[in-house]
Amino acid sequence: MFTYKGYIGKILRVNLSRGTFHDEPLSNELAENFIGGAGMAARILYQELKPGIDPFSEDNKLVMLAGPVAGTMVPAGSRMGAYSKSPQTNSFFHSSCGGHFAPELKYAGYDGIIFEGKSPQPVYLFIDDGQPELRDARHLWGKKSYETQELLLEELGSGEIQIAAIGPAAEHMVRFAGIFCGCRALARGGLGAVMGSKNVKAVAVRGYGSIEIPDYARAEAYYKEIYAKFKATPSTSQVLPTYGTPVLVNANNSLGVFGYKNWQEELYPDAQGLSGEVMKEKIVKRNKSCFACPVGSGKYCVVGAGAYAGFINEGPEYEDIFSFGSMCGHNDIEVVCAAERFCDDMGMDAIEAGVAIAFAMECFEKGLITTKETDGMELRFGRADLILPMIEKMALRQGFIGDLLAEGVKRAAEKIGQGSEFFAMHNKGLTFAGHSARGMPGFALGYATGPRGGSHHDGRPTGERTGLVKRETIEGKAEYTARINHLNILTDSMILCHLAEAVWGPLDVTETVVQAINVVTGMDLSLEDGKKTAERIWNQIRAFAVREGYRRKDDKLPPRFMEEPIKDGPSKGMVISREMLDRMLDEYYAFRGWDKETGIPTRERLISLGLEDVAEDMEQYR
Ligand code: SF4
Repeated sequence: MFTYKGYIGKILRVNLSRGTFHDEPLSNELAENFIGGAGMAARILYQELKPGIDPFSEDNKLVMLAGPVAGTMVPAGSRMGAYSKSPQTNSFFHSSCGGHFAPELKYAGYDGIIFEGKSPQPVYLFIDDGQPELRDARHLWGKKSYETQELLLEELGSGEIQIAAIGPAAEHMVRFAGIFCGCRALARGGLGAVMGSKNVKAVAVRGYGSIEIPDYARAEAYYKEIYAKFKATPSTSQVLPTYGTPVLVNANNSLGVFGYKNWQEELYPDAQGLSGEVMKEKIVKRNKSCFACPVGSGKYCVVGAGAYAGFINEGPEYEDIFSFGSMCGHNDIEVVCAAERFCDDMGMDAIEAGVAIAFAMECFEKGLITTKETDGMELRFGRADLILPMIEKMALRQGFIGDLLAEGVKRAAEKIGQGSEFFAMHNKGLTFAGHSARGMPGFALGYATGPRGGSHHDGRPTGERTGLVKRETIEGKAEYTARINHLNILTDSMILCHLAEAVWGPLDVTETVVQAINVVTGMDLSLEDGKKTAERIWNQIRAFAVREGYRRKDDKLPPRFMEEPIKDGPSKGMVISREMLDRMLDEYYAFRGWDKETGIPTRERLISLGLEDVAEDMEQYR
């Protein structure tokens, strides 16, 4: 019997091929060892997916989970997660978003959903206070993500309903299509494309249930303490409420670590036009917050004039400004705002989409593609007017260029060839977010070893960017990176928001995080237990990657980051050479107890983490 509080205690399994449902109880063992979110999903998918399957085949599964603290008063703790074998990386992928979907799913009676098989026709899943139903979605197929949500709210006749929907890009199986909950995106890794491949257009949830916690007095004391921490921490009480994540434009550019023109440079002389300060002045109307979060980092924006007048958006975030702005070589914040909204609406990851356009711009400027391949467009850096048309082409796979880039930068470079791999800015098939590898060696190691490749949430740039640790050296960066991995994966298993990392960490698993689990669930984890759990989950995910063929050779950076030093600015000359990366990898694997030659976790380390079955399984890959 499942005994922990906080959780609802069951997951809904939906067999789309047969149109059947099955309630599955959680087990204490699964919750204790893998907590929830990314950890729980990694374990489930490791056990249920055969290695080597096509992510778009019926054999793949899509898991959606709310974390154990979702729906409680733990601040910044009500994120929704999606999990699958990614069509971009061909390995386990996790993505999460804020908003209000996760609490509603739990109030509707479930911790999560596992989709398996494939529906013969487009459907949406409606869970109405514990009652699941698959409904015909043919009338929604082809609709954009926001329109789909609006139509469903109308159809279901209730504003209380929370919806997660895909846009046209996922229906066209654009490899970086996401899932959209309100204005929040489960964007990265192509999990929306997996949902589209299964003919699931949306999930709608409504519930009137509640979440039990073990001891209200203890919880109240914890809430008081944690809210005081949010208030006392400058990033969560001042910086993010005032500017949101776009504050990072000036922060990164002033250090010379702001990707510009497909990372050809890392100092953008005209970045001010994209800054959080200018954005606030020009388009921000008010703040928006996720469930039970005092931060309000979301920025509700309206473009008031010009070619994009009337575009309304909850954002852009820093990453969108990086991808659709500086990477594409322009500083028009209104274009970025419109582009991000349009990209969400078409249903794609804005980082991948913007970086794909920047990659194509560099290919065009170098003569590797011409107007013949771009349907007549002079696709040069600075052509802000071409960004929305390019988004549409990718989402609908229109023309040679749209279809090519819909495969993502990695596959596009493989097709174009001619040396374009040098500046295809991805690792493991996922493009890099807007944080420098060259200017932050520990973060570079996080990118290289990250199971998701170019994600900025496997490692984190914050420690080196803010000077908590020295960024000009590789000394000590192996352990530094591994500890941040652990903080990230534990918070991704609870599913806590990384924007509050200064409270949760920021450099390792802390009592603050572990106590949130204990207070809500009734577990009795020590700090050491929390750290070990994080390491167990990290190794479980690594084992998934090993099974899919990933080895040390894949823990790498693109040649541009390893051979081309930063050209100008405060970080001029910084680069992560092959030798530097090799040394950091040696130290990282040694700290982790992974084989130095292959990067496969050793049998001893897996057993010490309680992963005996995984240790056995790994033997065949050694
Ligand atoms: S910090 Fe921002 S993104 Fe994170 S939960 Fe709070 S409002 Fe949402």
